[in-house]
Amino acid sequence: MTARVDHAVSSGTFSLDGETFEVDNNIWVVGDDTECIVIDAPHSVDDIMAVVGDRKVKAIVCTHAHDDHVRVAPALRERTVAPIMLHPDDRPVWELTHGGADDPDNTDGQLWDVDLADGMSIEVAGTTLQVLHTPGHAPGAVCLYAPELGCVFTGDTLFSGGPGATGRSFSDRPTIEASIRAKLFALPPETVVHTGHGDDTTIAAEQALLG
Ligand SMILES: [Zn+2]
Repeated sequence: MTARVDHAVSSGTFSLDGETFEVDNNIWVVGDDTECIVIDAPHSVDDIMAVVGDRKVKAIVCTHAHDDHVRVAPALRERTVAPIMLHPDDRPVWELTHGGADDPDNTDGQLWDVDLADGMSIEVAGTTLQVLHTPGHAPGAVCLYAPELGCVFTGDTLFSGGPGATGRSFSDRPTIEASIRAKLFALPPETVVHTGHGDDTTIAAEQALLG
């Protein structure tokens, strides 16, 4: 069975620093007819499961912990019995949405299960996703490079038109630019970029824009 990428868009809100915005998030699912991994868990478990179908979910991989990417991760874990994976540097961001281990109300395991780390490989459906730690939009932001599929999932680190937003808490513009140049512009230029919001792009197109 050959691995493929499936996609849907889910609508909801993003809140940070006391402001709330309407947002459309991409849901990316990598797998074959038997098993898959889900990249980000935005607004609706049903929207995600409509893409998953009856396949086994091996993991819920979070590109970062903004609430519009992780809000339903615990509910999706309950539905699929799949582990949630997140880079531990995003712990303070995760805790804004799901509370912390020290939170007395948080007694039902609302933490993630597996720490992501730069260089880690995630296997699904006979193909490999390589974890690239790309801090800047969030301290624990990661991208997932799928060399055999010729694509990279960038979350909110790189969009069609440039780097992700860095105007709010936990973000830093020089850091995101350094991450993009070191980790993403090192990928083959024809690599397709599947973003957290909006259209696809390519590494070459974004390299030409950012210079
Ligand atoms: Zn974000």
